[in-house]
Amino acid sequence: MEFVDLHSHTNESDGTSAPVELVQLAMRANLAALAITDHDTFAGYEKALPFARQHSFDLIRGIELNSRLYVPDAAQPRFVHVLGYFPSNEPAASFYSWLQRERESRRERNVKLIEALAERGIAITLEEVEARGKSLAGRPHFARILVEKGYAKNLDDAFKKYLGEEAPSYVVRDSHSLEEVIRIVRSGGGIPVIAHPIRLGLTPEQERQVLASAKQAGLLGLEVHHSEHSSATRAHYQQLAKDLELAPTGGSDFHGDAKPNVRLGEGVAGNVRAPRTLVDGLRAIRTIDHG
Ligand code: AMP
Ligand code: FE
Ligand code: FE
Ligand code: ZN
Repeated sequence: MEFVDLHSHTNESDGTSAPVELVQLAMRANLAALAITDHDTFAGYEKALPFARQHSFDLIRGIELNSRLYVPDAAQPRFVHVLGYFPSNEPAASFYSWLQRERESRRERNVKLIEALAERGIAITLEEVEARGKSLAGRPHFARILVEKGYAKNLDDAFKKYLGEEAPSYVVRDSHSLEEVIRIVRSGGGIPVIAHPIRLGLTPEQERQVLASAKQAGLLGLEVHHSEHSSATRAHYQQLAKDLELAPTGGSDFHGDAKPNVRLGEGVAGNVRAPRTLVDGLRAIRTIDHG
């Protein structure tokens, strides 16, 4: 059987591998296709594309976006990651400008976060943060610097003490609802997929409700294979995707040295083995309706 990896990050966002290195890794792992799904940027995909073309390697354009979901009876919204795939067409120009605004809003948040940390005697500059996430600098980059400078023991500690929702220096970023993000991906010509659904922490009934209403908004797929999914979890989402007629997808969510136990195309201890047929499934979806 041939395998693919439809969820990966380069150092243009919060991964540590350069785009071309990531394609080389995928080729060495004998993967039949790779999707680069950086947070809020296509820069990694675009940098890797000439190399992939030279080697006739099937590189798929993807993106990972954040969204907010209000769950009945829960005080705080959940954050839901939405993957957007463009396996057979380019995104609409409107989608690029939407992404540009997203990156600007995150940059404004980063400036506020630096101020909030400075008030607590922590010296971090925007330049330091932006040197790490080349196209997209976010909290994971702050976390690495906080650890390096000795302000936190490890990445978790950095989120707990300074960056996470519970921390006193936390700065909220403007976010869009899950439905809005799904519609934006659709109108940009992409295939919206809910990433690592296990992280939502929903009961089975809540899950069905959320996915059914997301489908109403235009959701087309569900991430079934993921390095945080056990085999039972994977079977559960496989069934759910089937019942709700959502395209199953899967990938490791490779971040390089930022998540050293996750291997490209394999996940953690081989828990991700996404078959090539998943890509055929995505390519069979017609996203642009010519009426
Ligand atoms: P940002 O979009 O810049 O606010 O950063 C969000 C990213 O930070 C998420 O996509 C996660 O990868 C990471 N993140 C959020 N919370 C935590 C946490 N508690 N521990 C580690 N990473 C986290
Ligand atoms: Fe990430
Ligand atoms: Fe994610
Ligand atoms: Zn990811």
